[in-house]
Amino acid sequence: MKDILSFFAKRYIAGEAREDAVRVAEELNAHGILATIDNLGENVEDEAGAENGVEEYLHLLEEINKAGVNSGVSLKLTHLGLDISPELARDNVERIIKKAHALNNFVRFDMEGSAYTQATIDIFLGLRERYQNIGIAIQTCLRRSERDVALLIQRGASVRLVKGAYKEPPDVAFESKRDVDENYSRLMKELLLRGNRPALATHDERLIDEAMDFTGLHGIPKDSFEFQMLLGIKRKLQKRLVEEGYTVRVYVPYGPEWLAYVLRRFGERKENVWFFIKNIFG
Ligand SMILES: Cc1cc2nc3c(=O)[nH]c(=O)nc-3n(C[C@H](O)[C@H](O)[C@H](O)COP(=O)(O)OP(=O)(O)OC[C@H]3O[C@@H](n4cnc5c(N)ncnc54)[C@H](O)[C@@H]3O)c2cc1C
Repeated sequence: MKDILSFFAKRYIAGEAREDAVRVAEELNAHGILATIDNLGENVEDEAGAENGVEEYLHLLEEINKAGVNSGVSLKLTHLGLDISPELARDNVERIIKKAHALNNFVRFDMEGSAYTQATIDIFLGLRERYQNIGIAIQTCLRRSERDVALLIQRGASVRLVKGAYKEPPDVAFESKRDVDENYSRLMKELLLRGNRPALATHDERLIDEAMDFTGLHGIPKDSFEFQMLLGIKRKLQKRLVEEGYTVRVYVPYGPEWLAYVLRRFGERKENVWFFIKNIFG
């Protein structure tokens, strides 16, 4: 089982060391694709674990700068201590944002399960008053996201729009894929019309086509938003979008703590589950 998962990990993550991630970002840049690098890790249980996360991001930002790659960073607040206290997570992420600011770089807050949504938005908005080099992800599976997007647009914050990767209860999230996709389409259009450099993070070609049609129709410039995808998914589409003049950024995860991330990617695709069953029982 571990072998099958590490087979999948190779597709979805850059490697275990930050040098692997920077090298992958360089390769993407060579194809005209930008990157955002994520050091894998979540739900750390003690201050020492959170401190390790901070140190790794500080080194990563230096490494990105030294290599001259065009890449921001993405992070999760539970990797920086949110389960211990919101104050710890806020102070820790601020250290990373300050460093990124000094190096002219950008920090994107990933969005985790719904238990963390409010705290993540509160910390983000508090820091956004002082730092412009930050953005946040919002999930269209959540019923609350329409309000969150409206507030973030009002504050001039950059939103990365995603469908959502966490299993959520029906009182907070839409149950059908159709509702999640319709909400994506609605919020995407809001962000394209009124948002600050929105990032449309999806591999859904129907939504990507819709974004291209919508921006064409409304005269929204191609350089005022970006498409984002995950490493290892829809590489040909990434290339085609770049050729057509769109900005494409790929999320590049790395680190030894890859299991939770790879399991989320694994479960998103029926073919992966069939492959798994065939190899276990075949
Ligand atoms: C840049 C980026 C950042 C993200 N950040 C967050 C975040 O902060 N918080 C969060 O909850 N989620 C995040 N996600 C994940 C997101 O919420 C979805 O779980 C994921 O993108 C799959 O949804 P989809 O929009 O691609 O649409 P889907 O309808 O799930 O997929 C559309 C098509 O894409 C392909 N595809 C999708 N997933 C896979 C896969 N794993 N392997 C192979 N092919 C696949 C398939 O062809 C599928 O038919 C992020 C996604 C991206 C691209």
